[in-house]
Amino acid sequence: MQEKLQALAARARAEIAAAANGEELKQIQVRYLGKKGEITAVLRGMGQLPPAARPVIGNLANKIRDELSALFASRENELREEERRRQMAADQVDVTLPGRPQQLGYLHPLTQVMEEIAEIFLGMGFTIAEGPEVETDYYNFEALNIPKDHPAREMQDSFYFQADLLLRTHTSPVQVRTMEKMAPEVPVRIIAPGKVYRRDDDATHSPMFHQVEGLVIDRNISLSDLKGTLLLFARQMFGEQQQVRLRPSFFPFTEPSAEVDISCVICGGTGCRTCKDTGWIEILGSGMVHPRVLEMSGYDPEEYCGYAFGMGVERIAMLKYGVDDLRLFFRNDLRMLRQFR
Ligand SMILES: [Zn+2]
Repeated sequence: MQEKLQALAARARAEIAAAANGEELKQIQVRYLGKKGEITAVLRGMGQLPPAARPVIGNLANKIRDELSALFASRENELREEERRRQMAADQVDVTLPGRPQQLGYLHPLTQVMEEIAEIFLGMGFTIAEGPEVETDYYNFEALNIPKDHPAREMQDSFYFQADLLLRTHTSPVQVRTMEKMAPEVPVRIIAPGKVYRRDDDATHSPMFHQVEGLVIDRNISLSDLKGTLLLFARQMFGEQQQVRLRPSFFPFTEPSAEVDISCVICGGTGCRTCKDTGWIEILGSGMVHPRVLEMSGYDPEEYCGYAFGMGVERIAMLKYGVDDLRLFFRNDLRMLRQFR
């Protein structure tokens, strides 16, 4: 019996020493010293031993129980201390870790494209002109040869403040303001980037959008100057393989007028869904400045002439980046905007 108890104690000591954590230790304690534990069972069974053996076994069992209790307590402290050290090590500041980078802001894709457009024209000797976004009827329509009955002047197409004051529907008024300021000096060679407003709202129209207007006034300016300038622009914006095509069109402030197409940026000119199998995509409107516009702005149309063009920045950005819904630019969804860093 004594040997059995000693063996039991030895097994318990080994298990206590090997316990990996408090939870495991608790289970071992229950197994030996719990109500149904092995040592407890020995002490409970004392009554069945011969009377002479009881004091010896009882003493030994008590001694072992006390010893194991002490071992459990000290092992528990040890484990707690280990755990604390582990925790401290985990919490420690590692000064060699790289810092957390600040989230830096960056320019909106439309601003980037507008700056890119401006950069190209600045490189060709243009300067930047600006004008007010709240414009008078005179500068927005009248001085651009847009007659009173022109559909663009309908109340439902534009944002009016009062009868003769509205949010400009195009950047063209800047042409007039610039010519008035400079006349009769030449050359005039400006671009006017900025916001314009119309009552449209769908996948390809927004009530607020951006245009870049261009204007050149000088002596002996021809349509081929316009075409050459736009070809250079198209190649710098969309690639060296670009071609441009002028199609006859109508604008009140230019004569003759032309829509300008570039080779389809999707298929390269072979024909696809985007270009409706024509191989061409329209990017802007242009033309030779109408003699009446020149005259109203102080230039003698007998002596001076020039060209003008206007492009939508959103359209250029959509073509350049393959964005098929203009509204994506205005939803402020970072998943979209982050792609243009
Ligand atoms: Zn195509």
